[in-house]
Amino acid sequence: MSTLSDLGFGPFFEEQRQRWDGENILPARIAAEHRGGYEVWSNTGDGPARLAGRIRHRQGGEGAPAVGDWVGLRHPPGPERTTVIDRLFARQTVFTRGAAGREALAQVVAANVDVVFIVCALDEDFNLHRIERYLARVWASGAAPAVILNKADLCPDVGDRVREVEGLCAGVPVHPTSALCADGLAVVQASINPGMTAAFVGSSGAGKSSLINAIVGEARMATGETRASDGRGCHITTHRQLVLLPAGGLVLDTPGMRELQILDDEGLDRVFDDIAERAVQCHFKDCRHDQEPGCAVKAAINSAQLPPERLEHFQKLEREAQAFERRHDKRLQRQSGRAWGQLHDEAARLRKWKGGE
Ligand code: GDP
Ligand code: ZN
Repeated sequence: MSTLSDLGFGPFFEEQRQRWDGENILPARIAAEHRGGYEVWSNTGDGPARLAGRIRHRQGGEGAPAVGDWVGLRHPPGPERTTVIDRLFARQTVFTRGAAGREALAQVVAANVDVVFIVCALDEDFNLHRIERYLARVWASGAAPAVILNKADLCPDVGDRVREVEGLCAGVPVHPTSALCADGLAVVQASINPGMTAAFVGSSGAGKSSLINAIVGEARMATGETRASDGRGCHITTHRQLVLLPAGGLVLDTPGMRELQILDDEGLDRVFDDIAERAVQCHFKDCRHDQEPGCAVKAAINSAQLPPERLEHFQKLEREAQAFERRHDKRLQRQSGRAWGQLHDEAARLRKWKGGE
């Protein structure tokens, strides 16, 4: 039987539990989600679970629990009955998909992921700008990024590529691997400490499935398939979406996480809540923080409260986001004015999650 800390329970969640002291709440983690039903893991056992009606009605969109979420149960889970999810713990990190700033439409892809491996292949997939955009996306979630440069077997100058990526983001670990030759996998595996939850993102074909299979394959086979409730009390077979590794640590693997998009309708905004906070003070609502009078962002830079690179980086990513949107034929008329409104919504949402409300 796993302890709660094996499953990723830490001080951030313990503090919340203590606020409910006396209510006899059992913490459990959502290991799989299937057609409105859940499978939960706890330190007393595993089993199917469903959301209490009162939570279902209160929580729209982003509030609904996702794989990786910590929830509170009144009764221990077990394979033979469906327990009721009575509480939701605030998230430490979150990945969402959907319309930014429109809470009801945003959908949580994964919760409480601690480390995200950005997988980039050392063939024509290799692209520093894409890695940078993924980094922004991961930072925005609250998780820590690491970069995997896969298909090292196809690349004659792996060391140069590693140094290029290291130059892009000091302090972010960069791991060259070959899933094909099983090279470098032990280092990746060893970087997922007990109690830590890891996920993999990157373009299609970069080698995420191969890497995940190599790392979790045995564990997944050992645990086999699991039963989950489909919400109507029926039990169906589903694949584990959260996998406990034999040496400790967890891998969260859902299609939504593997296919995480960069710079569609969300992402870079959250990284720049320091800019968003100031931008609301700018004299002009549509201030570009360029030459406009009364610009609070420029004022913060001039008084050394905000490093100038923050604004440069933001503007660069914003230009890329706009180029991305044009390529994807998003309606151009929505573009002006939207970025800032979105930024404020996202910043507010980020503070809400971070503050554990
Ligand atoms: P995903 O779309 O990111 O999940 O990528 P896959 O894991 O499905 O891999 C895409 C293709 O790349 C498959 O044909 C793999 O066999 C191949 N592949 C994965 N890892 C490596 C590697 O390290 N070296 C080489 N040469 N090919 C690899
Ligand atoms: Zn301004």
